[in-house]
Amino acid sequence: MDKKEQAEKVALLLQKEQPHPKTELTHLDEYQLAIAVMLSAQTTDKKVNQVTPALFAKYPDWEALASGDVTEVAGLIRQVNFHKGKAQRIIEAARTVLTSFNGALPHEMTQLTKLPGVARKSANVIMQELWGVAEGIVVDTHVSRVSARLGLTSQKDPKKIEEDLMSLLPKKYWRNFSGSTVLHGRYVCTARKPKCSECVLNEICPSAYKV
Ligand code: SF4
Repeated sequence: MDKKEQAEKVALLLQKEQPHPKTELTHLDEYQLAIAVMLSAQTTDKKVNQVTPALFAKYPDWEALASGDVTEVAGLIRQVNFHKGKAQRIIEAARTVLTSFNGALPHEMTQLTKLPGVARKSANVIMQELWGVAEGIVVDTHVSRVSARLGLTSQKDPKKIEEDLMSLLPKKYWRNFSGSTVLHGRYVCTARKPKCSECVLNEICPSAYKV
């Protein structure tokens, strides 16, 4: 089996395991999802979900957040890592949405990544979750780890990992692969003790029972 066949087999098995993967970030609309994704950098979704109810109660939309007080916002999200910088960036992002995009999230990668706090990974999550558009593959800590263990990449840089995965997988798999690999990494192929005996990939994974 060559690398492309291996990648496609992985994608199909994960698709079977997670036919409709969804983000675990709690949200009701585009605004809430975008802000939750921005807050989730280097923080667990669980922690983000603990702070967003109070944040969204106080700042329910882009307009409210754009005129928010950075110290107050930082206080509301203090349980997430780098909360001071994130408070600043989400306020700036809200101002950018209002001033540059007529108050609505732009639908294109190049424009989305102009928002403070939205790098390519976040833009991929937002586009896939909100509009079902996969312009790339989400590469977070879980996708990086699982892809390396499966032998699909030897790169460390997320951008290069994404390039490797995009070159191995036909586009039709990108959306499901992103979501299902995040969940697989979170619950099965975990960082410390991967559950290889329960893993749907254990017959084709070069790292099975070796980590
Ligand atoms: S077999 Fe083990 S190491 Fe390989 S993907 Fe599954 S859980 Fe991870």
